[in-house]
Amino acid sequence: MRGRVYSVRVVLLGPPGSGKGTQAARISARHGVPAISTGRLLDTEIAAGSPLGRRAESFVRAGELVPDDLVLDLVADRLYGATASAVVDHVPATARASHDAAVGASSVARGGSGGGASSTGTLTAPPATPTADVCQGFLLDGFPRTLAQAEAFDARFACAGCALDVVLDLDVDEDTVLERISHRSRSEARLDDDAETARRRLKVFAEQTAPLRAYYAASGLLRTVDGSGSPDEVAARLEAVLAEVAGR
Ligand code: ADP
Repeated sequence: MRGRVYSVRVVLLGPPGSGKGTQAARISARHGVPAISTGRLLDTEIAAGSPLGRRAESFVRAGELVPDDLVLDLVADRLYGATASAVVDHVPATARASHDAAVGASSVARGGSGGGASSTGTLTAPPATPTADVCQGFLLDGFPRTLAQAEAFDARFACAGCALDVVLDLDVDEDTVLERISHRSRSEARLDDDAETARRRLKVFAEQTAPLRAYYAASGLLRTVDGSGSPDEVAARLEAVLAEVAGR
């Protein structure tokens, strides 16, 4: 079944290889909200050779985090800018067609300004109007990844109608994650999936992203979900939490 079930504004948290991308696609399809992956947005910029992509590439290749200002620019553009239709999200093709139409309309409504993820200058004030497709909800996959990103999101974006409903934390043990990443590196060509870089990404997660659990626990948004088992099993657990959040 597709179509909006709940209006949800979700952050998916979890280490590399925890299955965030897979679950993001499912939640996106089931609830009709765009899944916004900063990793995918960065890949698009890098492949396009944009100024932002050129600045980001060495960090991604090394398994390091891209500087916060670049990522915040990307997210600002995706939530409020005019580049949404150029972005390859996890949104299924059918949903993407209507999403592109909606974004096209909103871009015209804003005067069709070009902007683009490669524009410079970090947002200092909350923009007024979210792009059409995120008004009814969104899912952030891979963002925020640092405390500074989480605080910037709350300060700059959330007050403009994008406050989060829930942070879903996928809990998967390190052995499972390393096994999944090594399997993925054999089947997909990614810039950052060799064993050494995968270990680096896990270390970066432990140091920089895991502390976000405490941040979101303090605001009552954090829900930890067992990420072990099949994609269907994990999806069922996530759906149960989303149903509970929607029913509150
Ligand atoms: P994974 O979920 O497997 O870690 P992603 O596709 O989310 O992979 O991210 C790949 C890389 O992109 C990261 O290792 C990092 O270099 C960069 N990246 C993605 N999101 C962010 C972010 N929010 N802040 C900084 N760097 C990011």
